Amino acid sequence: MHKILIGLGSNLDSPKEQIHNAIASITAHPLIHAVKSSSLYESRPQGPQDQGNFINAVIRIETTLEPEALLEFLQQIEHQQGRIKTRHWGERCIDLDILFIDGLMNQLNLPHLSIPHPHALKRDFVLIPALEIAPDWMLPDGSALQAALEDCLKHDLQKLTST
Ligand code: AMP
Repeated sequence: MHKILIGLGSNLDSPKEQIHNAIASITAHPLIHAVKSSSLYESRPQGPQDQGNFINAVIRIETTLEPEALLEFLQQIEHQQGRIKTRHWGERCIDLDILFIDGLMNQLNLPHLSIPHPHALKRDFVLIPALEIAPDWMLPDGSALQAALEDCLKHDLQKLTST
């Protein structure tokens, strides 16, 4: 059984609804057990600034799916919710990332799948919701996720509503 944190983000077409719909689709999978969902957070866009703020959340799941199968499933959900690739770091109705995996296979470096997610440790909008639901989470190098937040905290998040 893999313990996994998944990051969700949206800034198009009713972002809060997009996040809730994606969580519902993820947790409807028969091999995925949802443990906890974070609150929703609002963050300023990375990259192009002429787009709306993002709504972000993190969910904690347990699953017997292997990471590659989970990625494929998450990409199906992105597709179903109408995600269209626009510009790099541009607007999107839903973005689903595998952030961290706990356990023996907690690192993966495949051409199409890197775990921990390459940008996760640099993003407060990932780390703050992740720590809300997994305060004791440890990284593959033995350091605490909490320490990663202390490195990158920028104080620009606005806590919204609970999911
Ligand atoms: P994005 O545009 O941010 O959704 O990036 C999508 C691409 O990132 C996909 O082609 C994935 O194969 C790749 N990718 C690599 N590592 C991860 C990960 N940990 N979670 C999700 N996508 C990943």
